[in-house]
Amino acid sequence: MKKRIIRWMLVLCFMILQGVYAFGGQGDISVYVKGEEVAFDVPPQIIDGRTMVPVRAIFEAMGAEVTWDGQTQCALAKKGTATVKMTLGSTALWVDGQVKTMDVSPAVVNGRTLAPAKYVAESFGYKVIWDEATKSVWITENTDTVLTVHFLDVGQADAALVESDGTYLLIDGGNVADSDLIYAYLSKLGVTDLDYVVGTHAHEDHMGGLSGALTKAKVGKIYAPSAGSDAAFYMNFKNLAAKQGLSLQVPEKNESFALGNARVTLMTPAQKDPDNLNNTSILVKVVCGSTSFLFTGDAEREEEQDILSQNLDLDATVLKAGHHGSDTSSSYVFLREVMPEYVVISVGKNNSYGHPGEDALSRFRDAGAKVYRTDMQGDITFESDGTALTVATSKNENAATNPTESSTASTEAANPQTGQYIGNVNSQKFHLPSCRSLPAENNRVYFSDRMTAVAQGYDPCGICKP
Ligand SMILES: [Zn+2]
Ligand SMILES: [Zn+2]
Repeated sequence: MKKRIIRWMLVLCFMILQGVYAFGGQGDISVYVKGEEVAFDVPPQIIDGRTMVPVRAIFEAMGAEVTWDGQTQCALAKKGTATVKMTLGSTALWVDGQVKTMDVSPAVVNGRTLAPAKYVAESFGYKVIWDEATKSVWITENTDTVLTVHFLDVGQADAALVESDGTYLLIDGGNVADSDLIYAYLSKLGVTDLDYVVGTHAHEDHMGGLSGALTKAKVGKIYAPSAGSDAAFYMNFKNLAAKQGLSLQVPEKNESFALGNARVTLMTPAQKDPDNLNNTSILVKVVCGSTSFLFTGDAEREEEQDILSQNLDLDATVLKAGHHGSDTSSSYVFLREVMPEYVVISVGKNNSYGHPGEDALSRFRDAGAKVYRTDMQGDITFESDGTALTVATSKNENAATNPTESSTASTEAANPQTGQYIGNVNSQKFHLPSCRSLPAENNRVYFSDRMTAVAQGYDPCGICKP
């Protein structure tokens, strides 16, 4: 008797789950217009393989006015002098008096007119990006590059500038000594307005150089953790902010906002660790289409755990490695959630901390991520078209940023034991094979000649003077 009840309960549970799944399947599609999520009373759905979206809501999100003529079953959208007209059951789409043919005609679902997202967006000169992983439609400005991220080479420090459709977000600004560099970088790009600034945490190598940004640009909003500092760099930064009428805002839980075509989310740890400012770091996620970036400040594994326990969507195409690639950050569990294709390490050449750590580097290898490093490659710039990324570095594009043991071995085999130079992937110095301070086997990279070593950003060892 008991068994039968259990069996029936299982069947019932299964049916409920199926129902939830089937229902959720339709309502799952989200639509972003210029980084803002559009709210619908009737959800988008896939009809004949096309993503169909409620016409009025999308047109209005694009800034158009919509009228509906019941007699002709016709929707008319106007934005400035541009007009778009479509008729129920007809594939004809009139854009400024010119007719185009849609592959699926508009249909009424629960009293709302739905039409293919692609045609609705393109009719007003936008483009559409579909992200299969999150089942979302991104309607963006119609340009090849919809999002650009610059990782600035500020030595043993952090600074990244994010731009989309002329709006800017600066995440950290390097040390006080980098203020001029930040000023010059913004000047070079012609940035006069920084819509958002995030100081990830109150350490000088992150917030020191933000003063340069506040001197150069008019800032819209500044985010920083509640944990501050009484150091001079911090006071100076606060004063410069006050001069612009700004105070430092602590982000709301998962606060998010549009940045041009992209969506930015700020994540903060639930537990505050007063003894380690690194673990107060604000995490910043920037998404556009199927490309995304996660900036983790100096978050170490304790904060990574904290963020993981909040069940946030951490998946990212590019991860800015926490704490300059330190072994105490980028734990396996965290990397498994982020699953980055690229890892950027913002780190100074020959820094006294031994960053990046060999353990962290090996975890990036295990994750199959391609590593870029500011100490070897200078400024690193990613451009996104919403689907794919292109990367450019200011130097040493093909540097061996994270050589695997097997690739080291094959280089070794290709180069005879005579006349070669041995580099240390951590210290970025190269040695003669006879040097008494050679790196451990797994930290070695071999060069056939001196020029190659120098070209890859390696400095000669002071002991053996190769
Ligand atoms: Zn720090
Ligand atoms: Zn730092």
